[in-house]
Amino acid sequence: MVPTPITVRVPAKVNLHLTVGDTRADGYHELATVFQALSLVDEVTVRPADQSGIDVRGDGADSVPTDSGNLAWKAVRALAERGGRDPEEPGVQLSIHKGIPVAGGMAGGSADAAGALFGLNALWRLEMGRDELLDIAAELGSDVPFALQGGTALGTGRGEHLVPVLARHTYHWVIALDSSGLHTPGVYGELDRLREGTHSQRASGAEPLLEALTSGDPRELAFLLGNDLQAAAVSLRPHLRRTLRAGVDAGALAGIVSGSGPTCAFLCSDSEDAVRVAAELSGAGVCRTVRVARGPVPGARIVGDDHAD
Ligand code: ATP
Repeated sequence: MVPTPITVRVPAKVNLHLTVGDTRADGYHELATVFQALSLVDEVTVRPADQSGIDVRGDGADSVPTDSGNLAWKAVRALAERGGRDPEEPGVQLSIHKGIPVAGGMAGGSADAAGALFGLNALWRLEMGRDELLDIAAELGSDVPFALQGGTALGTGRGEHLVPVLARHTYHWVIALDSSGLHTPGVYGELDRLREGTHSQRASGAEPLLEALTSGDPRELAFLLGNDLQAAAVSLRPHLRRTLRAGVDAGALAGIVSGSGPTCAFLCSDSEDAVRVAAELSGAGVCRTVRVARGPVPGARIVGDDHAD
């Protein structure tokens, strides 16, 4: 018996490596990226309701739409269409608890879409398999499939074609949240502007990083973290340079802008070091707040369902 309501926990992502290629005919950039799912999570609860609605609580909830603009609601519609259901008969109440920074480059909206897909597949007893859910996820957004899948994965295309990467070790991160978000298309636009007429440096291939992941040594991994969007995020938010420096000064092995930013992620040697770095960074006055996280963690999971694959 599926319990109702159903709560799904969904992870944030950090891009350990992100290469942004040329703009494609459809306007998207060709990407090659290595994602890692982190223990910074949103929780999405789905329950039947007479009238559909969305409520959002937690960090940054005020700037999350509670109408059809919410990516999780788009997931409800897409799943209903694929499953031959009317999303209003009966309705669905979506309750989102944000732990992932909003517009922070950690794919929080995508995580909520993945949570809604996963939760409603169970609530409506659609019994769609992983591949079918991944297929719907890819239509919803580049980062939605990874939020479903979790772990560590290589993403190509817009980021939606995923190949899991074996990463047996747990890595320890400190996450520095900025006072407000960055608009992802604006960051890509800034990258295009910076690249215009120049042969600006692009991150090299991800192969050495993939090898470092098999060794499990965070020092090796730290040396190979790379993000083509970092220069653009720093250009739009020059104070991020100070944040990145402060994390390394506090003892992190390396710091990187997460995806399109402005959140910064710092890789630490172990869990104790992460706690130390977090304490020092939060006193340095270079960010709004800090969190400690570990990765990789699984993708979308029903809370209380410890036997899910
Ligand atoms: P990206 O995946 O593009 O890197 P991000 O992680 O930087 O995105 P999100 O937190 O996904 O940013 O939010 C981007 C914008 O999407 C927000 O400004 C918000 O208005 C809108 N949005 C829609 N649905 C959600 C949701 N469920 N949670 C957060 N933001 C949402």
